[in-house]
Amino acid sequence: MFLRFGKGRLHAAQLYSDWFRKGHVREISQWAEPQAMALVQKMIEETDFTLPEMSRLNEEGGLAKFLLKFSDGLESESVLIPMEAGTTICISSQVGCKMGCAFCETGKMGLIRHLSCEEIVAQVFFARHVLKREVRNIVFMGMGEPFDNYEAVMRAVAVLTDAGGLGIGPSRITISTSGKVDAIVRMAKEADPALNLAVSVNAPTDEIRNRIMPVNRQWNMAALKEAMLEYCAHPRREILAEYVLLKGINDSLLCADQLAEYLAGLRVKVNLIPYNPQTRDRFSPPEEEQRELFLKRMREHGYQTLLRGTKGQKIMAACGQLGNVEVRRALISRS
Ligand code: SF4
Repeated sequence: MFLRFGKGRLHAAQLYSDWFRKGHVREISQWAEPQAMALVQKMIEETDFTLPEMSRLNEEGGLAKFLLKFSDGLESESVLIPMEAGTTICISSQVGCKMGCAFCETGKMGLIRHLSCEEIVAQVFFARHVLKREVRNIVFMGMGEPFDNYEAVMRAVAVLTDAGGLGIGPSRITISTSGKVDAIVRMAKEADPALNLAVSVNAPTDEIRNRIMPVNRQWNMAALKEAMLEYCAHPRREILAEYVLLKGINDSLLCADQLAEYLAGLRVKVNLIPYNPQTRDRFSPPEEEQRELFLKRMREHGYQTLLRGTKGQKIMAACGQLGNVEVRRALISRS
């Protein structure tokens, strides 16, 4: 921006860096002179970007969910998850989602609109500079299918990883997809190999996946496997295979055996996620004993497998629970 205002590359870089690293530009000594501050003010006014306001913050056992309200009244949801090594932030890439996964609250909303690059970055900026959390990892697992908004998501990744700004390493960012094969192949060709990919597999067969994930009717499990193999062709890449456990649907030991067979040949870690309750429930999570049996069977098949906890259920911040009543209420009050 300073380039546009004729102040030169050095000043532009300084302003950019202070904005992302400190969260403000106003206390920088070289801007203290009134003339320079007036210029900064003019630049801020001339850009479209205004930091959104936080419309809600809920906390449960260290985990926090916050909603950002944008200039058109729509809201995004982000979740801060404390981990041993620092905070992981789960961010949204869209308001709503058109993918329609049957076990997901966001899927019930349909797609309202894509978030812009600025609105995606704002969630991390807000966590860091307003909520004062030291964000270590970023996962695109909030509202939306990131690959349905590919350009904005990848631009946001470029901003988040920019060494002159927030400087978050690409290896600390994970993009999660429901299985958009065209975008997995695109990411395999274009993206930094250090960037992580998570794929919501969620079923061991087409028959089951068709029932719970409409995306499977466009790209079936064979097509998905081919794309994942192409992605894993780079020696630095591996995939996080996500699997939401749904009682009586995909949680049998036969399903675990079939899943193990499906994933054969991929560099993959498996993340089991017991289904989290939602507003109008069609599903339920398996009993703890069945979860453990599934986990054990995957490990016996040689897969590095984790069983995720259910933290955040009460504040509807757990996996599959975003896009709930608060966001819908905001939508209704707009219409
Ligand atoms: S699980 Fe992800 S892709 Fe599927 S409906 Fe929910 S937000 Fe969309």
